[in-house]
Amino acid sequence: MIIIDGSFGEGGGQILRSSLALSLITGKPFQIRNIRAGRKNPGLMRQHLTAVNAAVEVGQAEVSGNQIGSAILTFSPKTVIARQYHFSVGTAGSTTLVLQTILPALLVADAPSEIILEGGTHNPFAPPYSFLEKVFVPVLRQMGPDIALHLQRPGFYPAGGGCFTVTIQPKARLQRIDIMERGEIIHRSVKAYVANLPKMIGQRELGVIRSRLSWDKNALELIEVTDSHGPGNIVTAEIQSEKITELFTGFGMKGLPADQVPLEMIQEVRDYLDAGVPVGRHLADQIMIPMAMAGGGRFRTLPLTLHSTTNLEILKQFLDIRVEVTKENRNVYQVNISS
Ligand code: ATP
Repeated sequence: MIIIDGSFGEGGGQILRSSLALSLITGKPFQIRNIRAGRKNPGLMRQHLTAVNAAVEVGQAEVSGNQIGSAILTFSPKTVIARQYHFSVGTAGSTTLVLQTILPALLVADAPSEIILEGGTHNPFAPPYSFLEKVFVPVLRQMGPDIALHLQRPGFYPAGGGCFTVTIQPKARLQRIDIMERGEIIHRSVKAYVANLPKMIGQRELGVIRSRLSWDKNALELIEVTDSHGPGNIVTAEIQSEKITELFTGFGMKGLPADQVPLEMIQEVRDYLDAGVPVGRHLADQIMIPMAMAGGGRFRTLPLTLHSTTNLEILKQFLDIRVEVTKENRNVYQVNISS
């Protein structure tokens, strides 16, 4: 049995989710100890438990330790079953992180599946739905499977209540891709989403973005969301290049003034544009498992986050792969995964 130390590296929920995903793909059982030991509130929280239970269902797995607060979990999958699934995170916990756990196995399953996910769809510290739609899923499609996404209702933190559907036409084996260049930038756009909050918030955010990024006024759009259960506010900046689209997000939070909401996102956009790489920081850690499943792949990205370096270590525990990380310069790294 593979033993994973959950306190290693990033020490958070990513180690658990990646281990579950890789166990489903390889059929190898594992035990994870010290779950999320690097966090203030260690152990399994509601959102992690939903991911565990989703993986149990998808992989017909035997499991122990799947309780709130648990610091140790043992997971032995049997067969991956492709069919319709419905998972509800209950609170505004991130639905996209639940999907991150089970999607890889269903991409190569022996039949199509449909997954209905309920909970938060645009949560801080998780891929927002828009990132799945514009960035992650288009890259996965290049690897062979046909994936359709449909957002029924957005769910913002803390009220949640969002819902989206994913349908997957799998491919027996993922096709290898290399993402080394982004090509010319063909379109840039910024959107400020405001749900059940004054429009003025979005207008102020767009003003800050416009003054700091100097993008064309026509690239900016304010979207009033009318079907959200609670209040919510995010800003996104999309950069569509010839070979890849990237998306950066700023999350509005109670107590955070509107003109500060986009600041981190603006910095992320600048870093990405300056480095000239195709793959941003978040896509980097998310693309590693599919690339390893394809038997290899290469990409150029920004300096690796702790999420990424931790993910690479977990990959090596489940799969017989080689990983080479090369520094091109201070801002540009190459990741080469091979079998
Ligand atoms: P924990 O509960 O232990 O704090 P977690 O389960 O919330 O952790 P992380 O371990 O922080 O999750 O992993 C977050 C995942 O979400 C990573 O894959 C990261 O790339 C992704 N992510 C975070 N923010 C964004 C964003 N703005 N856009 C796209 N992906 C994101």
